[in-house]
Amino acid sequence: MVRTNTDTASRQTALNALHAELETCRCCPKMIGPAVHSESVLSPVMLIGQAPGTREIAQLKPFCWTAGKTLFNWFAPLGLDEPTFRQRILISAVCRCFPGKNPKGGDRVPDRDEIARCERWWRGELELLQPRLLLPVGKLAIAQLLPVARLDAVIGRQLSYRAPAGWEADVIPLPHPSGASTWFKMEPGRTLLAQALALIAAHPAWQSVLNAAD
Ligand code: SF4
Repeated sequence: MVRTNTDTASRQTALNALHAELETCRCCPKMIGPAVHSESVLSPVMLIGQAPGTREIAQLKPFCWTAGKTLFNWFAPLGLDEPTFRQRILISAVCRCFPGKNPKGGDRVPDRDEIARCERWWRGELELLQPRLLLPVGKLAIAQLLPVARLDAVIGRQLSYRAPAGWEADVIPLPHPSGASTWFKMEPGRTLLAQALALIAAHPAWQSVLNAAD
């Protein structure tokens, strides 16, 4: 797709407006806001997480605590440290507010209605970016783009996403870096994660982000 400067400017304006509107969203009674978004960057790579935690809504910054530390440690050897990643790649999520704690421990998984209500935000970002590479993080995020029965069937592979509007992107799914998860610390998860990161490192969209001037 060839994009003009005018097109880029209008998409940037639309993304800024989308994020400003997202900040005011209060439509889920059980969700704890405010809604979180990343830098409003029109990147060729888009990461999609699950939902923010308490620290993220306090700091208004996605992946700013322990899961983020693990996540950015995965990307640093691929050439992007955390500040550069945040500057150059849009970090989206299935839900943008904190779902609250699960009585059995950990964060509550957003329910079906919350996921459906919040879809407009990540889909809005997706349509404005039309990224060449999508990085869904965790099963809930992967499931928004692809059928996924088991993580080991999709992690370590490069797959395809076709948007309702007709454009296509490559998808390299990642496991969730939550401290509560052991999947990526044990085999086959450890090897599959390494394969996924190698695929990301070799992808032209990732290379273009690495080579982008600030
Ligand atoms: S979870 Fe999403 S849809 Fe629900 S209130 Fe937060 S931003 Fe709005």
